[in-house]
Amino acid sequence: MGKSIFIKGEHIIMSKSLKNIKGTQDILFDDNNIWQYLESHIHQFLNKYGFSQIRTPIFENTNLFSRSIGTQTDIVSKEMYSWTDQGGNNLTLKPEVTASVVRAYIQHNLGKKYPINKLYYIDTLFRRERPQKGRYRQFNQFGVEAIGSEHPEQDAEIIALAYNFYKSLNIENLTLKINSIGSEEVRNKYKLELKKYLIPYKDKLSTLSQKRLDTNPLRILDTKIDFEIEIIKNAPHIIDFLNKEDKDHFSKVLSLLDSLSIKYDIDHKLVRGLDYYCRTVFEIQSSKLGSQDALCGGGRYDYLVEELGGKPTPAIGFAAGIERLILSLNKKELSIFKRPNIYIINTEEKYLETSFEITESLRNNNLTVINDTLRRSLKSQMKDANRLKALYTIIIGEDEIKNNKVTIKDMDKGTQSYVSFDKINSYFLKKQ
Ligand code: AMP
Repeated sequence: MGKSIFIKGEHIIMSKSLKNIKGTQDILFDDNNIWQYLESHIHQFLNKYGFSQIRTPIFENTNLFSRSIGTQTDIVSKEMYSWTDQGGNNLTLKPEVTASVVRAYIQHNLGKKYPINKLYYIDTLFRRERPQKGRYRQFNQFGVEAIGSEHPEQDAEIIALAYNFYKSLNIENLTLKINSIGSEEVRNKYKLELKKYLIPYKDKLSTLSQKRLDTNPLRILDTKIDFEIEIIKNAPHIIDFLNKEDKDHFSKVLSLLDSLSIKYDIDHKLVRGLDYYCRTVFEIQSSKLGSQDALCGGGRYDYLVEELGGKPTPAIGFAAGIERLILSLNKKELSIFKRPNIYIINTEEKYLETSFEITESLRNNNLTVINDTLRRSLKSQMKDANRLKALYTIIIGEDEIKNNKVTIKDMDKGTQSYVSFDKINSYFLKKQ
């Protein structure tokens, strides 16, 4: 145990070295370059499709999630970070974003403003899951929600957008899985049939699936346990229970995907974990990811707006994990590691003002300029410039100050030029 201290009368035991909480991560240096690159790619890509960003608070009233995601789901029943604040409010750190987007959609009357709202987010979420590769307790998602259209072309647009997004990053081994789970009525009928089919196998099922048989039998189809996979192989398919409208809707979605030459697998076991989905559900997987292979997942949620107090409004969306996206990237292919243009090497404290002025004027010309604030020797600064792979160094020393000139070294070619102070900017602008 570490030493103890008193803060405002409270006795606090300090552990020797403080560490991040299990399931959370620090993102440092080169990894951050990837995050920045991806975030800007997400913005550009989604703007191209006419989606605009929405930002919602990091925490919400707990009942927003229990009402939308469903009390029987893993997320609500055991994974949420919830607490009661000093005012007695039950609050929860967002475990997903769709519920918040729909809450905001209703609250700000967005449906009245525009008949269709195409929104996207990049957000940080919290779920108390068992941490493993590709599964964390604090993680990040981007996602889109198209609220207002009931038509299959909206489903196809969203699915194609997700698929093309991964293609735009050259992610290989993609599989698009798709299914239709029909309307609520269809699902209720199917649940009964599925239960009927599974009851004879009840004793063979895991304890969790036995419980789900009563609470949420659809989730048993999601099982990753071999002997359960064997049992559900011959289970009835929800697709056979669809009514005519559901069937027509689904076949139009598929024919639109065909027209875009997007390949898909119809997966009868794909039902998605959350309560609010209906009709089209889909997932994109990458075989590069191992057991946590879902890059993104989503579907139609035509009843959610009404369920949360709005007017009945059809909608569809998906959420995509950013950590998993990074795990599936072929990082070598991405030219994201930008080399700094210039490293300013200042050799004496007394030249600081001059070096500051030169640095700022170069930055004002949109050049990336690194300067040393450790007062290191010329040799160490040169070493640092090499480490950062700076394209050029500018040396400011005694000779340079005397002659109102700087030495500019091209770090790749090893050549040097002597350039007067007033020509430094034009020297670099010519190179761009
Ligand atoms: P979901 O919101 O559960 O439908 O998940 C959508 C996507 O978010 C998944 O396909 C994953 O890429 C990602 N994801 C979900 N949960 C986690 C987690 N605990 N850690 C990292 N990524 C996650």
